[in-house]
Amino acid sequence: MSGTIVYERVRESLEKLRMEAALNELDDVLQRGAKEERSSIEVLDQLLERELSFRFERRVRTNFKLSGLPVIKRLDEFDYEAQPQVPKRTMEELATLRFLHNGENVLFLGPCGVGKTHLAIGLAVRAIEEGHRVYFSSLHDLVAKMASARERHRLDRFMYAIHRADLWVLDELGFLPLSAEDATFVFESVNKRYQSKKSTIITSNKTFTGWSDIFPDPVLATALLDRLLHHAVTVNIRGESYRLRNRREAGIPIQEN
Ligand code: ADP
Ligand code: MG
Repeated sequence: MSGTIVYERVRESLEKLRMEAALNELDDVLQRGAKEERSSIEVLDQLLERELSFRFERRVRTNFKLSGLPVIKRLDEFDYEAQPQVPKRTMEELATLRFLHNGENVLFLGPCGVGKTHLAIGLAVRAIEEGHRVYFSSLHDLVAKMASARERHRLDRFMYAIHRADLWVLDELGFLPLSAEDATFVFESVNKRYQSKKSTIITSNKTFTGWSDIFPDPVLATALLDRLLHHAVTVNIRGESYRLRNRREAGIPIQEN
């Protein structure tokens, strides 16, 4: 059979298999293979490698888009000297994402401005870059989405969207008290993830004892904490707000709003 016919059939097959990158790079891989006198298995290996890395990058891009992250913050942008309460070692361990593979939770607790959201987003970005699916929601967003999902009788579907993520970040728990039905939804989401050994990161300005104020039912708050803390790393940050500290050090008078 003529080489041209085989070549055309390979192109067609790659197209049918939707191997976009392999199709685009076929000529390049073949030419390099011939030039470097590679074996056919090496040429095949390289072609598949290019398709896989293209797909991985595309997945990462899509996961970034679907994650709901409000901004991109990186762990290496975090100034540990400015916030000595944040244990750098613990953060480095968390950055390996072993917690995610083990289904452990991470809780960042502390007052406003100490970097809780920054650290949570930093871990989320690491997870996405490693190919994981992340769902980020501030409590405020979550409450709005629960209301809209409830109205459309889509609450189950919304819970599934949360459950499906490899990592769920719930930011700012404690900033507003929850209604009974919203609290139940949050509890069920956490519980479902707990049962499937999926990680959740929560940031809160309230200490654990203060969680009974967020949840209308203290039994629910206790049950939630029980699930969350079973396998968890807690980072307590009691320091000063990063921005206020910067302003103070620059000699700008501080006005709390
Ligand atoms: P919190 O969620 O605890 O209220 P944020 O994470 O939103 O605080 O931090 C407020 C702002 O200050 C963000 O822009 C964040 O990137 C920045 N920030 C806070 N702490 C640090 C730090 N130690 N190093 C660098 N940036 C920080
Ligand atoms: Mg925050």
